[in-house]
Amino acid sequence: MTVGSVSAGDSRTDIAELVRDHLRDIPDFPKPGVLFKDFTPLIADGPAMKALVLDIARRYAGRVDVVVGIEARGFILGAAVAYELGLGMVPIRKAGKLPGETIKESYALEYGTAEIEVHTDAFRPGQRVLVIDDVLATGGTAEATAALVERAGALVTAIEVVLELSFLEGRKRLGGRDVNAILTL
Ligand code: AMP
Repeated sequence: MTVGSVSAGDSRTDIAELVRDHLRDIPDFPKPGVLFKDFTPLIADGPAMKALVLDIARRYAGRVDVVVGIEARGFILGAAVAYELGLGMVPIRKAGKLPGETIKESYALEYGTAEIEVHTDAFRPGQRVLVIDDVLATGGTAEATAALVERAGALVTAIEVVLELSFLEGRKRLGGRDVNAILTL
């Protein structure tokens, strides 16, 4: 299948290059000293987005029961991958945003602290979960998300990110979990 100029049969290297070509560096955002990796050019490009979504969906077809998207950029990719797989998507949100009964985790970020939540009834017991986010930095968000998913009774099959900032060693915080990054810097 060909999507625009991007073939859905592209190799892993090609997808990584595609991501590299569509990421933009924004210095000193959201605070001085942080080099923000902006993936809005990637999601604004239809063929690139489609190739990325198909690449992720293909690797998890039949292996997961539900997709978890981490607020906010993880919602965009998570919803698209869930749709492609014919699965539902569960949002992990910043504290105070979800209307129902929730459980909460607090954690440290590369730039600050945060609290995230999930609905207590978001999963059926033992459901296999694919967690999706845009960037793995210090790993705090992914670690807290995995803890929430497990406290809510589901299983984390894998954590998928578009970009891993390896110098921040986020993967170390995720222990023996299956963590996959499309592009690692
Ligand atoms: P962390 O918990 O440190 O792994 O941070 C991950 C979350 O913060 C992700 O949801 C990212 O979207 C965001 N984030 C952290 N650092 C960056 C960065 N340098 N560029 C873009 N997003 C980032």
